Amino acid sequence: MKVLLLGSGGREHALAWKLAASPLLTKLYAAPGNPGIAQQAELVALDISNHVAVAGFCRDMKIDLVVVGPEAPLVAGIADDLRAAGIRVFGPSKAAARLEGSKGFTKDLCARFDIPTAAYGRFDNLAAARAYVEKVGAPIVIKADGLAAGKGVTVAMTLAEALDGLNACFDGSFGSAGAEVVVEEFLTGEEASFFCLCDGTTALPFGTAQDHKRVGDGDIGPNTGGMGAYSPAPVMTPEIIERTMREIIEPTMRGMAELGSPFAGVLFAGLMIDENGPKLIEYNTRFGDPECQVLMMRLKDDLLVLLNAAADGQLSHMSVRWRDEAALTVVMAAQGYPGAPEKGSVIRGIDGERGDGTQIFHAGTAINAGALVANGGRVLNVTATGATVGEAQRQAYAAVDRIDWPQGFCRRDIGWRAVEREAG
Ligand code: ATP
Repeated sequence: MKVLLLGSGGREHALAWKLAASPLLTKLYAAPGNPGIAQQAELVALDISNHVAVAGFCRDMKIDLVVVGPEAPLVAGIADDLRAAGIRVFGPSKAAARLEGSKGFTKDLCARFDIPTAAYGRFDNLAAARAYVEKVGAPIVIKADGLAAGKGVTVAMTLAEALDGLNACFDGSFGSAGAEVVVEEFLTGEEASFFCLCDGTTALPFGTAQDHKRVGDGDIGPNTGGMGAYSPAPVMTPEIIERTMREIIEPTMRGMAELGSPFAGVLFAGLMIDENGPKLIEYNTRFGDPECQVLMMRLKDDLLVLLNAAADGQLSHMSVRWRDEAALTVVMAAQGYPGAPEKGSVIRGIDGERGDGTQIFHAGTAINAGALVANGGRVLNVTATGATVGEAQRQAYAAVDRIDWPQGFCRRDIGWRAVEREAG
C-alpha cells in the first residue's frame, strides 16, 4: 500500500515509524514531514492547506490511504475534499471534527446526549458572559470556542482572572476562535487522556496516557503543547475505561451519527476523573502530541491494518494488543519556548542505532549545511519503554543525557505522578 502522511511534528514521526514497520506498506510519503520522518518516508513539498494540490498528488501517485496527523486540516475539511476526489482517508469529516473545532458544539452534544461534563454556558457577547461569570463566581473556566493552539483556555481562580479571560476572547486575542465563549464549572480530580479509533459506528479503545502541559518541573509555569507523556495512565483502571466507553464515548458515537456526522478517525477524550467517575473536559479529533509517541511505542499490532479497517468501517472485527510495558517520552525544547524559541543551534549525538529500545522522534528540526539544527519550539521527543513508568523514565533520561545539545532543555520530572504511585 502507498500511504501519504500529513504533518511535521513528533506525532507524525511516531506514526511514520510505526507505519514503516507494516508489511503492508510499499511506499510512505510525508508532507511536509521533517528530517526524522525522512528516515522512513519520502518527503513531499506539498502545501497541506491546499486540498486540491494534495488530492492531485494522491491521484498521480496512486495513494491508497491518507493519514492526517494535525487538527487544523481536519477542521478545514481536508478529509471531505479527499473523499470527494475518491481518495481513502483516515480522519474525520469537517462536520465530525467540530468535536474539536467548536467547544460549544461538544458541550451542546453532551447536554443533548447526557454525557457527563462540566456545567456550562455559551455566549457570543461580553455583557451576557460577564453576568454569568459574576453569578457563578470563581473558580471558573473560560474557553474560546474555536481552535487556539491550547492558548484559549483560562482556568480562573479569581473573578478578576475570569474577567481578563473573557476580555481576551472578546477583544480578538484569539481571532475568530474567541468570537464565541464557553464558560465552565471548575472540575477537580486527576486528568487523563483516552483514545479510540473510530470508523463512524464502532469506537475501539486505543490506549490511555497522561501528559504534562506546563513548561516547568512540578507542573508550574506557562502552558505548552506538552512537555512529555507516559502510557498507560494508572488512573484509567479497567472500571474507569468501561465507564468512559459506556457513559462518554458510545453516546458520542451515537449522537454524532444521529446528527448526520458520524465520527471516523481518532477520538481523543481529555477526561477528569474523581470519586464519581470520569467527566469529559474536551475532545480532540486526532492523536495527541506527545501522547501518540508513547502509544506507538506500546502498540503491538500493525497500525496500518487498524487505520485501514477504520477507513473501511470494519473496526468491529478488530482488537488491539499492547506491549505489557510502560512508555514515556521527554520533550526537549529550544530555549525561549513556549515563547519565541531560539532557532539554529546544532544538535549532535542522536545518530546511529541506540540498541537500548529508545526512540528519538523529531519535531521542530531541520538540516542546515549538513547539520541537524533546532527549528521550532518542541524539537525532540526522547521516548523509552520499561517494565514500569519509573524504568521507562530512567531509560528516557539516560538517552536525553547522551544528546549533545547544550541549547536544549527539558523537564526532569516527566511521569512523576505515576512514579510516586509505583513507589507506593
Ligand atoms: P489542549 O491543548 O489540551 O487541546 P484546549 O485549549 O483544547 O487544550 P482544554 O483541554 O479544554 O483546552 O483545557 C485545557 C486545560 O485546562 C485542561 O487540560 C485542564 O487542565 C484545564 N481545564 C479545562 N477545562 C477545565 C474545567 N472545566 N475544570 C478544570 N480544569 C479545566
